[in-house]
Order: sequence, then structure tokens, then C-alpha cells
Amino acid sequence: ERIIRRALENNTITFNLQPQYDISHRLRGFEALARLKDEDGTMISPGEFIPVAEKTGLVDQIDSRVFELAVEFVSRVMNETLSNITMCVNVSVRHLMKNNFIEEVRNMLEKYGVPAHFIEIEITESIMIDSTDKARNTISELKAMGIKIAIDDFGTGYSSLSYLNNLPSDILKIDKSFIDVMNNTESNKQYVSMIVSIGHILNLKVISEGVESDDQVDTLKEIGCDYIQGFVWGRPMPAENAMLLVLKDN
Ligand code: C2E
Ligand code: MG
Ligand code: MG
Repeated sequence: ERIIRRALENNTITFNLQPQYDISHRLRGFEALARLKDEDGTMISPGEFIPVAEKTGLVDQIDSRVFELAVEFVSRVMNETLSNITMCVNVSVRHLMKNNFIEEVRNMLEKYGVPAHFIEIEITESIMIDSTDKARNTISELKAMGIKIAIDDFGTGYSSLSYLNNLPSDILKIDKSFIDVMNNTESNKQYVSMIVSIGHILNLKVISEGVESDDQVDTLKEIGCDYIQGFVWGRPMPAENAMLLVLKDN
């Protein structure tokens, strides 16, 4: 908690960008991921500091900082290229539930002159399910603004089909745990294939997360997954390297 507070005060929270590709390896965009350094310079993983930030109520400030860095990156892409990238940001439901969340998003987009269609907000499935009407209304309002909504870590929660059908979202992110074991048995593969089908029936795009091998890419191609994010095609990287990727793809 102390390290997070200090990083917020000193404005040293940073971010990495991990590329997302369509199935034929064309750049779709990036996911912005928060990064934090310990006092001795070693990296602390978000798996460690995000839960602390959630508990201590600091996660909103981390989200906002990463959101600003991500929107600023998009404005640079707009100025330097004609690329139409999607920038994905993670938002904690605590943050989403705040009264001024929509206003915060609107102000940030205005500040950097970035149209809403460049932005995708990721919300974790398990948290979406428990969320109230208020969260749902906020999500609908974001969608009405033109922001895309992704359901993160899909498959790890308990979404019912009727629930999914009523949720205003654009894309399902299949959790890495399903991709990890996908090629071990035929039924594991069919399971991922089923998620892709459900997504498509509901008119959603589907992205697989944590894809690490060419074999997994082949399987995902075969079952019709739309997008891929994972070490196989790109690790999280500093913004300068991400910009080079955009320029190369342009
Ligand atoms: P997530 O949103 O599901 O992000 C994907 C995580 O999977 C990232 O970990 C990414 O580095 C990792 N990953 C992607 N591809 C691969 C792969 O092929 N192999 C392996 N082993 N890992 C892969 P990271 O950056 O450590 O982030 C962990 C979690 O922390 C995120 O999971 C997200 O829930 C949370 N998080 C990160 N940044 C933020 C933020 O700004 N705000 C909030 N609220 N949460 C954040
Ligand atoms: Mg995410
Ligand atoms: Mg995820």
C-alpha cells in the first residue's frame, strides 16, 4: 500500500501495451497494463498490487492514470498515422460504480481529442455478474457513447446464457486457463470452440488471451476465434515499441 501511495504521489505508475491481432496476424490494437516499480527498482506484478489497490481503495487512481496514458498514446497514433487501433483498458468495478466515472471518461477523451470508438473497456466477468443495475446502466451509457465493452477472463465466472444475452458488450475475452489446456484433449478444444460459437451467436467478437504457441494459434484459427493476444505474437511492451509496431503495420 505504501509503495502504491508513493507511486501515485510521485506519478511513477506507468504502463505497458500488449498487442492484439486478428487471426491473420494484422494488428487490432493493444491492452494497456499497469506497471509499478518497487523502491529498489524491481517490477511488482499487477497480480500482486492490483488486489492491494482494490482493498485499499487506490485502484481507481491506478485505473485513471493508466487510462490517461493509454488515451494519450492513441492521440499520438492519430497524429502520426492513419491506423484505426483499439485501445483496451481495464476498469475495476469499484471505479465503474463511481458517480463521476462517465464524466471522467468524457473529459479524458476531450482533453486528448480522441473519439470514443478507439477505446474498449474491459470488465471482469465474475465481477460483472454480481454487479448492480447501477454498473449495468453505466456500461450501457459507455456503449451509447461509442466505447466498446469487453468481458475479461470469460469462462471463469458463472454467466448464464440469459445474462450474457442481456449484457451490453462487444467482445468476450476467453481466459488463459482455457487456452493453456485447449490442445490437451479433444473435449478441452470443443469447450473453447463452444465459447467461440456462443459469442458469435450473441453477435459478439471473441478474443483468446494468453496464447503462447503456434499450435494454439492453429487451433484457434480452425475454430474461428476472431482475435489473439498472447506471448506467441507479442508481450506487453513500452509505449515506444508499441508505436513502432503501429508504424510497421500502417
Ligand atoms: P488481464 O486484464 O486478464 O490481463 C492479461 C494478463 O495476462 C496480463 O498480465 C498479461 O501480461 C498476461 N498475459 C498476456 N498474454 C500472456 C501469455 O501468453 N502468457 C502469460 N503467461 N501471460 C500472458 P499482467 O500485466 O500481469 O496483469 C494482470 C492483471 O492485473 C490483469 O489481467 C488485470 O486484471 C489487472 N490489471 C492490470 N492493469 C490494470 C489496470 O490498469 N487497472 C486494473 N483495474 N487492473 C489492471
Ligand atoms: Mg484485461
Ligand atoms: Mg484477462
